[in-house]
Amino acid sequence: MTPASPTGAASRADDPPLVEVQDLVKRFPVRGGMLFGARVAEVHAVDGVSFSIRRRETLGLVGESGCGKSTLSRLLLRLIEPTAGRVLFEGRDVMEFDGVALRSFRCEAQIVFQDPFGSLNPRMTIGDIIAESMLVNRTAARRERVERVARLLEQVGLHPDHARRYPHEFSGGQRQRIGIARALAIGPKLVVCDEPVSALDVSVQAQIVNLLQDLQADLALTYLFVSHDLGVVRHVCDRVAVMYLGKIVEIGDNETIFTRPGHPYTEALLAAIPEPSTRGRRGPALVEGDVPSPIDPPSGCRFHTRCRFAEAVCREVEPALLDVGDGHHVACHLHTPLSGMQRKE
Ligand code: SF4
Repeated sequence: MTPASPTGAASRADDPPLVEVQDLVKRFPVRGGMLFGARVAEVHAVDGVSFSIRRRETLGLVGESGCGKSTLSRLLLRLIEPTAGRVLFEGRDVMEFDGVALRSFRCEAQIVFQDPFGSLNPRMTIGDIIAESMLVNRTAARRERVERVARLLEQVGLHPDHARRYPHEFSGGQRQRIGIARALAIGPKLVVCDEPVSALDVSVQAQIVNLLQDLQADLALTYLFVSHDLGVVRHVCDRVAVMYLGKIVEIGDNETIFTRPGHPYTEALLAAIPEPSTRGRRGPALVEGDVPSPIDPPSGCRFHTRCRFAEAVCREVEPALLDVGDGHHVACHLHTPLSGMQRKE
């Protein structure tokens, strides 16, 4: 059965994937030492990540700061090059695109940035900001661009006359609407929403989330929704992937992740969500300490330094991301058949 979509979009489990990520790795060199500029270490930002995004679905990507979410989303859009692995878009390897194919991919995969203040050029009018990608990619003549900007402004809840104004004349929520209109200008199929509401007032967040959902239903968009706010993710996403120190440790449908999480790290993230029924108080902390350095990640399971269930095997053997049923995947020895581990609360 196709799970009910919180987005209202008609994503189906048997839809072909729009995006397939295969064993993606990104390491950043750390330079320094006696020999100026020598590579002395590597940051393991993304380490062997595989998943797919179906057409018209919203996949949430969650985890603490520094877990690799932003690097992964930039790899997906080919804003940075991977160290290894592949990203397939409609079955074609994004890393092999150049010339016309790369320009066409840039039209089909767009991003909404977190910071609606920093991401709009203060010297350009709103009309020019929204029309810029149409101009660069030569997808529309001048008159067509003006008409499309007016339509896009209406679509995101602004007035066509706003095209003549400058970014400083708008509130944070209005600027994020402009950022969304810019992302939609050349008709993308995939939109990476990189923490799209975290810089906004709580009162405005719901309006932007509702706008994104309406646009998805109207335009058959596919979203990768990157966020550390699990309350928003629960409301918006069809499926959720949980990242920890450059790896996906759990992925599954919304209902499963939020009601029957399989990984101790996911449980800890959920326990940290403030409960409306307890007037915003959080549950007891299930994880302590900081995320270890991605320069020298822990051996075995990367979460073992903070996990309350950790045993010797966790320090030595890295758990694989295994299917535990119905497309729910977990990377934890509590779910590895031969590990012999059992949950002790
Ligand atoms: Fe915890 Fe071990 Fe599971 Fe890692 S593999 S999450 S350390 S129980």
